[in-house]
Amino acid sequence: MAQPPQRRLAILGSTGSIGCSTLEVVRSFPKRLAVNYLTANKNIDGLMEQVREFHPRAVVVLDEHSASIARTKLEGLTEVLAGEEGLIEIVARGDVDIVLNALVGFAGLKPTLAAIEAGKDIALANKETLVVAGELLTGKVKKHNVQLFPVDSEHSAILQCLRGEEVTNIDRLILTASGGPFLHLEKEKFHAITVQGALNHPTWKMGRKITIDSATLMNKGLEVIEAFWLFGVPADSIEVVIHPQSIIHSMVEFPDGSTKAQMGIPDMKLPIQYALMYPERPVSNFQRLDFSSLQEMTFLQPDMEKFPCLDLAYSALRAGGSAPTVLNAANEVAVRMFLDEEIPFSSIPRLIEEALSQHVVEQNLTLDDIVRIDTETRASVGGASTDVRTSQRRAASFHR
Ligand code: NDP
Repeated sequence: MAQPPQRRLAILGSTGSIGCSTLEVVRSFPKRLAVNYLTANKNIDGLMEQVREFHPRAVVVLDEHSASIARTKLEGLTEVLAGEEGLIEIVARGDVDIVLNALVGFAGLKPTLAAIEAGKDIALANKETLVVAGELLTGKVKKHNVQLFPVDSEHSAILQCLRGEEVTNIDRLILTASGGPFLHLEKEKFHAITVQGALNHPTWKMGRKITIDSATLMNKGLEVIEAFWLFGVPADSIEVVIHPQSIIHSMVEFPDGSTKAQMGIPDMKLPIQYALMYPERPVSNFQRLDFSSLQEMTFLQPDMEKFPCLDLAYSALRAGGSAPTVLNAANEVAVRMFLDEEIPFSSIPRLIEEALSQHVVEQNLTLDDIVRIDTETRASVGGASTDVRTSQRRAASFHR
C-alpha cells in the first residue's frame, strides 16, 4: 500500500515541554513527518541542538538581539528570523502543512490566526489562544476550511471518544483533572505554599506556567473554555472530575446513558501523535498501559472553595464575550508574579476575581479589541498586585 504523503511541520515553541515531545514523535515517524520550521524564545543552545538534528529551513527566536547571536552560532545551517513577525511569516510559508503551536499564553494568538488565514491545519497545545479568542478563531477555521486538532490530552480524548458519533448527540463532556500537588492539602495551609512546592506536579512533567495553572486548577478552567469552543457543548454540560492517577484522559456521556472514556499513560506523545497523524493510528513504540499493575482508579469532585480558579473560569465562560480574555490575562500576570515570588499562591485567584469584577463585558470582539483588553487587564492587574505587595509590606512592618 502507498505511504500517505509526508506532513511538513512548523513547531512553535520547539524547545519547551510539548515542543520536545513533538520532536520525539517526529523521531519515531521520520518518513511521515518533516520539520521545516522551529522556534524558541531565548533557549538558543537548545534550538541549536535541534537544528543540527532536524535541519529546519528556518528558525525564529525572541528578538533581533537573540537573532544576531543565533545567526552567528547557526551560520550556514539555517535561516534565522526574529519576533512575532518572524512567527507570522514562517507559519504562512508554502512548505508548511500543519503548525503545531506550543507557545505559552497570549503570545500564541497572532501566529495561530496567521496560520489559519494562510490555510494551514493547526495542532493546538496553546489553549490560551482558544480561551482569549474562541469565537474569532473558530470563525476563521470555518471560513478558511482548515482543521484544528487539540493537543491537550483531555480534548484529544474527547475527539477520540467522538469518532463515529454524532457531535450533536452529546449529553455531557467529563474532563478529568489530576488535582495537582495540593489536592489533599488543607486550605488553612495554602499560605505556606512555595514556588518549588507548586512546581512539583504529581503526574505530568510540563512547562512552569501550566504547572502552576494545574496547581490552582485554572488549567482545568481554561480547558473547560477550550472544550466549549472545540465541541460546541454548553458550559452546564461540561463537568470536571478529579482523577489523581491521570489514566482516563476524559469522557463523553451520550443520551442513552453510555459513557466512553479514552485511557493511556500520562504522556503527551500520544495526543501529539494523534493530532499530527489524524485520522490514522500508526503503530507506535511508546509505552503502553499495563492494566495488571494498575492498582486503582479513583474519582472525586473538585473543591471549588479550595480552588476558586475553576469556578472563576466557569463564570467567565458564562459571562461570554471579553470575560475569558480578562480571565486569561489576569491569570498570566498573577502566575508570573507568583513564580517571581512577588505574591503568595492565594493571591492568584484574588487578582483574577478582582479583574473580572471590574470589567464591563464586551461582545463581538475583533483582534484589536482582544489585544486592547488583554493589554488593559495586564496593566491593571500589575498595578493591583503592586497594591497587594505594598499592603503586605505594610502588614509585615505592622506585625514587627
Ligand atoms: P514550555 O514553557 O515548556 O515551552 C514553551 C515554549 O514556547 C518554549 O519553546 C519557549 O521558548 C517558547 N516561548 C515561551 N514564551 C514565548 C513567547 N512569548 N514568544 C515566543 N516563544 C515563546 O511550555 P509547555 O510546552 O509546557 O506548554 C506550551 C503550551 O502547551 C501551553 O499553552 C500549555 O498550556 C500547553 N499544554 C502543555 C502541556 C504539557 O504537558 N506541557 C499539556 C497540554 C497543554 P524557550 O524555551 O526559549 O523559553
